[in-house]
Amino acid sequence: MAQKSRLVVVSNRVPSPSEVSPEEGRSVPVGGLVSAVRPAMEKVGGLWLGWSGKSAGGPPQTTPDVTSLGNIELATLNLSSNDVSLFYTGFANRTLWPLLHSFTEHVVIRRDTYRAYRRINRRFAEALFPMLRDGDQVLVNDFHLFHVGEELRDLGWKGKIGFFLHVPFPPSDIFSILPWSPDILRGLVSYDLVGLHTEGYRRNLAETLESEIGGAVRDWDYFGEDGSTRLGVYHVGIDMGVFAEPAVADVDALATELSLPSSPEHQMILGVDRLDYTKGIPTRLRAFRRMLEHRPATRGKVSLVQISSPSRTRVPEYQTEKVAVDQLVGEINGQFSEAGWTPIRYLYRSYPQRELACFYSLADVCMVTPLRDGMNLVAKEFVASQGDTPGVLLLSRFCGAASSMTDAIIVNPYDVDGTAEATYRALRMSSTERRERWCSLARVIRQHTENSWSDAFHSDLAGV
Ligand code: UDP
Repeated sequence: MAQKSRLVVVSNRVPSPSEVSPEEGRSVPVGGLVSAVRPAMEKVGGLWLGWSGKSAGGPPQTTPDVTSLGNIELATLNLSSNDVSLFYTGFANRTLWPLLHSFTEHVVIRRDTYRAYRRINRRFAEALFPMLRDGDQVLVNDFHLFHVGEELRDLGWKGKIGFFLHVPFPPSDIFSILPWSPDILRGLVSYDLVGLHTEGYRRNLAETLESEIGGAVRDWDYFGEDGSTRLGVYHVGIDMGVFAEPAVADVDALATELSLPSSPEHQMILGVDRLDYTKGIPTRLRAFRRMLEHRPATRGKVSLVQISSPSRTRVPEYQTEKVAVDQLVGEINGQFSEAGWTPIRYLYRSYPQRELACFYSLADVCMVTPLRDGMNLVAKEFVASQGDTPGVLLLSRFCGAASSMTDAIIVNPYDVDGTAEATYRALRMSSTERRERWCSLARVIRQHTENSWSDAFHSDLAGV
């Protein structure tokens, strides 16, 4: 008798048991991938394989450690510190991440890191293969694991395999900087379905496939030497329940803790990001400074609360970014602080999502101004957390969320003057306009819920 079909997810990181506890509230999954995948997994259950986040000595681990997390069977592998350094810090974070976000000046090309990348992708596939059952639907997530599908095929897996890219796919002339771009693209077309966040990324991938490995894309199906692959677009959503209507007492407690000026005229701007150079935190700080310079009436009346969660702290480019942000915060606070008012409250730490909801709820304006971002869930979470007097979302045109959240105030974050003026306009926006914009944005995020993207993806995968 055929066994029941099961969802099998593979991603570099998985939520650790201490991070996810449905009884005690939500976790601190700092990053969009876990935020996006977790709700679907919690709903239907299944197997989730990934790196434990730990490095261990000794021979490579080939059999995963398995624990249960509610209805999720969590299988994790440890990596050696050398593997972490070459595969994760090296190829994933210093080659693919900047490449896919079009930060070509940060791309590091090293043969040893690519060899480690191929080796670890193979190890993930070898660890997973014996755990698979007939009828399983396998979803491989993100740029750390482009080759897992191809390796599973090589091991003999005949079932469906889908891949979802949680970051942008760049134009062909950028992707082709990578000496191994054809190898990676051939890995990608071994999947039955490849999902992307936006039409723009899908177009980029289609053009890159045709120009780098030949074949042809017709009606978003790629036809190559070894068969076909469907290219789909799926809007990742959020679990609105986590963010809707945070308790008034919690929001008040946060306001007291932040000790912002208590005057009713005082307004708060919020930024929430991992500390990553793609997030454009320095340009946001410069835009805020420009507003204080050009609109002196805002001094003493507006504070920027910037949450920067520590991220990839071993990667040199991230260390440089941290120094730049620290320095700018110091300069701006040094230049403008007055008795009873500090322009920027800078919080270099992570918060659980329930606490983030209180920050979102307190904010008059949320600046989501990445220089490049696959989707950006913070923008959606901010909208979900607003109540009767909604705040204004300022959104970079260079993130995936901008393709659907068109009633945000859309800015070009490279244009510091333009962003400063847009921020000023957002602060002064009438309550009627705030409400109209928010109603339209809320409709968009209700349309794309935390489960709708994975439901659509899995139903397409079943159909290809
Ligand atoms: N996040 C969090 N705590 C923090 C900062 C961020 O839980 O202190 C979560 C946030 O709620 C969001 C995710 O991390 O779900 C960030 O996702 P996004 O798509 O905005 O960016 P990414 O980090 O994936 O590039």
